[in-house]
Amino acid sequence: MAGTILEKHISEFKAKRIFLRLDLNVPQDAQGNVTDDSRIVASLDTLKLLSDAGARIIIASHLGRPKDKVVESLRLDPVAKRLSQLLGKPVTKLDEAVGPKVEAEIAKLKDGDICLLENIRFYAGEEANDPEFSKELAKLADIYVNDAFGTAHRAHASTAGIAAYLRPALPGLLMEREIEMLGNKLNKPERPFTAIIGGSKISSKISVLKSLVNKVDVLLIGGGMAFTFIKAQGGKVGQSICEDDQLALAREILEAADRQGTAVILPKDTLCIQAGLNIFKNNQPSDKLETQVYKSNQIPDDKEGMDIGPESAQEFAKLILQSRTIVWNGPVGVFEFDSLEHGTRACALALQELTAKGGTTVIGGGDSVAAIEKFGFAKSEFSHVSTGGGASLEFLEGKVLPGIACLDLEQAAC
Ligand code: ADP
Ligand code: MG
Repeated sequence: MAGTILEKHISEFKAKRIFLRLDLNVPQDAQGNVTDDSRIVASLDTLKLLSDAGARIIIASHLGRPKDKVVESLRLDPVAKRLSQLLGKPVTKLDEAVGPKVEAEIAKLKDGDICLLENIRFYAGEEANDPEFSKELAKLADIYVNDAFGTAHRAHASTAGIAAYLRPALPGLLMEREIEMLGNKLNKPERPFTAIIGGSKISSKISVLKSLVNKVDVLLIGGGMAFTFIKAQGGKVGQSICEDDQLALAREILEAADRQGTAVILPKDTLCIQAGLNIFKNNQPSDKLETQVYKSNQIPDDKEGMDIGPESAQEFAKLILQSRTIVWNGPVGVFEFDSLEHGTRACALALQELTAKGGTTVIGGGDSVAAIEKFGFAKSEFSHVSTGGGASLEFLEGKVLPGIACLDLEQAAC
């Protein structure tokens, strides 16, 4: 934490009202109990730093998709309760996010006190990034801190618009770390630099593939999207997921790689199941699926490729271990099923080993993070596990994220 932007500003926080945008969008059960509090836990360091510095903290977050109106089940009271337990101090939950009642409550805050505004997405001005709503939010505070990387790719009032009316606008500790790891570290990587790109469809990863192919030394492609590349090279992929309308794009990416001298590694073998089982819908047993291994370009017509094969898993792991910097987005197989998780697990293990040897390993993407959680890895076993699914993908694509562009980043240029 030492040397962070927040720490550099620490002497400015005493008795100041700080509008702190967090991502407290946690899952809840039918009774409204928080079932996974990791996002709340992740925000504690920033909160403690600001509170200990004597700031008066006004937290804003969204929860679920209330679509611009009050939804009783999406009020933030359970979040406030859990946050208060974790902090060991009271968190005043307000039932609105703007207006005179909110202003009156904020006026009562003492140094170090914390209050939580109502679900910011109850207001139409939030997702519309309405300047009037941004001004109303800005009126509540003296300083803006954004620690919600998960929504940094959205230009909403509380994630970006507010910064037009409230300065300084600073990144929280989580946000700064995301910028450092996904931005600075990967823009000036120690080489060899390798990317693993997986997931189901090439169409959802076009921009990230196009961007990374120019940056990395080695591009490992797994998951469903590998079949579009294999078919583009004339291979037979059976009933594996394949996007015929993206074949030209796959060729384009392969040609760009050639020009750049980037090695593109596709899985040489593939673990297949009988086609048409529809395993997600039909509740197939996770650990007892019948599987066969085929060469990836010779998959029979009645088979469907679901994971990279054992030879490819070994090759991917070897190439990972020969790298100094890795970025991973997208599982290389249908890891949700125990019978189809081997390739993804092998990649995760290699990343863990590389981290232990001093390499830099960055994992982004909702399902990639779900995979390492399923395998029981701790986030600390990797250099960085991104907290933002969509946001980390857009960051890797090289896009400017509105929630970051609006901040005063000083030397933490991204
Ligand atoms: P992330 O969220 O990490 O960016 P994606 O959402 O792009 O990842 O893709 C994850 C999904 O891809 C998983 O649900 C996984 O089951 C699926 N997937 C991986 N390999 C295959 C495959 N061979 N065929 C079909 N789906 C696959
Ligand atoms: Mg996903």
